[in-house]
Amino acid sequence: MRLTTPRVLVLLGAAALITGGASAILGAQQKPGIFGFSPAEAKTELSWEQKFRAIPEPANIRANMEHLSSEPHNVGSPQQHVYAEWILNKFKSYGLDAHIEEFRVLFPTPAERKVELISPVHYEAKLKEPPVPGDPTSGQATQLPTYNAYSADGDVTAPLVYVNYGVPEDYAQLAKMGISVKGKIVIARYGRSWRGIKPKLAHQHGAIGCIIYSDPRDDGYYQGNTFPEGPFRPEWGVQRGSVMEMERYPGDPETPGWGSTPGAKRLPLNQVTNLEKIPVLPISWGDALPLLKALGGPMAPDSWRGALPIPYHVGPGPATVHLVVKSNWNVVPAYDVIAKITGSTYPNEWVIRGNHYDGWVNGAADPISGQSSLLEEARAYGELMKEGWRPKRTIIYCAWDGEEPGLLGSTEWAETHEAELQKDGVVYINSDTNGKGYLSMEGSHTLEHFVNQVAKAITDPETGESVWIKLDTRDRNRARTPQQMADIFDGNDLHMGALGSGSDYSAFLQHVGMPTLALSYGGEDPGGVYHSVYDDFYWYTHFGDTTFEYGRALAQTYGTAIMRLADADVLPFQFSDFADTVARYETQLEALAKGPAGMPGFDFVPLTQAITTVQDAAHDYDAAAAAAVRDGRVFRKSPAELATLNQLLYHSEQKLLSPAGLPQRPWYKHTIYAPGYYTGYGVKTMPGVREALERKDFKTAAAQETALADALNAFAAQIRQATAQVQD
Ligand SMILES: [Zn+2]
Repeated sequence: MRLTTPRVLVLLGAAALITGGASAILGAQQKPGIFGFSPAEAKTELSWEQKFRAIPEPANIRANMEHLSSEPHNVGSPQQHVYAEWILNKFKSYGLDAHIEEFRVLFPTPAERKVELISPVHYEAKLKEPPVPGDPTSGQATQLPTYNAYSADGDVTAPLVYVNYGVPEDYAQLAKMGISVKGKIVIARYGRSWRGIKPKLAHQHGAIGCIIYSDPRDDGYYQGNTFPEGPFRPEWGVQRGSVMEMERYPGDPETPGWGSTPGAKRLPLNQVTNLEKIPVLPISWGDALPLLKALGGPMAPDSWRGALPIPYHVGPGPATVHLVVKSNWNVVPAYDVIAKITGSTYPNEWVIRGNHYDGWVNGAADPISGQSSLLEEARAYGELMKEGWRPKRTIIYCAWDGEEPGLLGSTEWAETHEAELQKDGVVYINSDTNGKGYLSMEGSHTLEHFVNQVAKAITDPETGESVWIKLDTRDRNRARTPQQMADIFDGNDLHMGALGSGSDYSAFLQHVGMPTLALSYGGEDPGGVYHSVYDDFYWYTHFGDTTFEYGRALAQTYGTAIMRLADADVLPFQFSDFADTVARYETQLEALAKGPAGMPGFDFVPLTQAITTVQDAAHDYDAAAAAAVRDGRVFRKSPAELATLNQLLYHSEQKLLSPAGLPQRPWYKHTIYAPGYYTGYGVKTMPGVREALERKDFKTAAAQETALADALNAFAAQIRQATAQVQD
């Protein structure tokens, strides 16, 4: 292991804070106001921000949700078009310049579904979520049936095998037990992986069908009372969801890498590579119980047992299952609603904010909780504009369609506008489901310090302190060792998480190379209605952020972040956070290579050299920028000179892309952040090298290390240019 200098500083970070060392000096640089603003401008900015934060009203967020979750509204449904027009008119009524962009996307819906136990006893699965008394929207006629979108069509009959979560470790365990799934139908429980990984791995191990169920241990009665008495998944509740292989590429499967505008070229369905190869259906635990009960064979290992009142056997058989899945493979319209406030000084620099508005069914939590706050932010800008406020940069608000099946609306929009985004895109900021509790901060680590600063300006509705203090208190109390502390806190900032996939930021970050943030609140409102008919207004107003005060906090958080990004003379990038982060990732890779599954002797020198180069360049830029801000020199630059500097900053993320993309999935070009090829949503940092090391594929790991080192060196060179510019 090679300990780099900044990592030593990270380890000492907490001590430095106490003794008033390096951190105190860094803190002093921030004192006059906000980084990137001259003292006079900071004063103006802070007063506008304060005005902004006073505007969002929980009652409005609640009203937005009540309307936008009153009917089922999946992509392609007539109701979704009604909502698109409603959102469009809202944006316009707030004074934003809004329009709808339409795409054509492949969206399969159920034509035939059957899960039938044919021996030793007969049971036909209901595959239906019943209405719940007292919940007015739980029985609506236009609900999309329970299914997994992009399942293969098929009609199969075979003995059943229980595979736990159906992740790689589970197949290793089955192999140890001498059990093969070849020619069988597997039943896996939801959890531990993105759901599309389960049928993919089942197919790779020779299974011919896959059933996924929600075990009550994971989100049902084992956790607490079930809906409608409590928030958890009831007996017949089913998690719908996509099983598209989004870890290959998201978006419309028939237009990989280009926008599916009306009339665009489309791949024929039989040339699409990211669809599941076997039929797969999700079921409730009510439907899973007779199937699991009919399994024989050895007992499942302890950790595989759920909370159903049965002995968990693995099989295979004697339970034999008949599974039928057939879809209507339709191309449907997707409507992205795009609204703009043109910047006064830098109209060609775009701060972009998005949240999807399509749901699997009513989708009150996912995604309308986030969408309702987004609309309230837009209203607040409208109010400020009436008082004379105008952002220096252009702010673009996006309500995405078709996120649930595979990030369709956002990906197609980003692919269509790729060249403009790579030129003009400053930052992309995403939200999705929002709830009650703690701020979650994920994104590009070049913005880690910035996000920390914003979090310190937002008041937590429960504690009355900042949301940063609430998060800091929880996280630092969890640390047991100095290393754990260093992983949480660097003496100044709480570390941000890295982004994998699972929401609309993917195309912006991992394909286009825009700096990206994803923030939300949650952690104090657990539940089990995800992607079911019960994720509705009744559930949210009984068990979610019931007062909508965290909806307001989200609007305040984003409004503050966006105003700062839109108005800063010098954009608030800080590269040493990023450099420290990649150094930590590199240490993990070395441990991986040394570990029992690793490859001792792998040469990390090209990577460690590149990281040192980045660390030096980052340190120089951060120091130079702080000095130029402190003495006010940078604020005497002309808008054109500042634009040149800022462009170097926000284009830096693009340098982290590798032109060839990741092995087996060239759509994903980011060398630092990607969803895992075998974990799905979960992030793999330095994915090209890490996944090759995990597979013990020495040749690919070395080639990916070269691509990664090249990207980091290009990134460092870009920062050096910015340093020269800031000192100029
Ligand atoms: Zn969502």
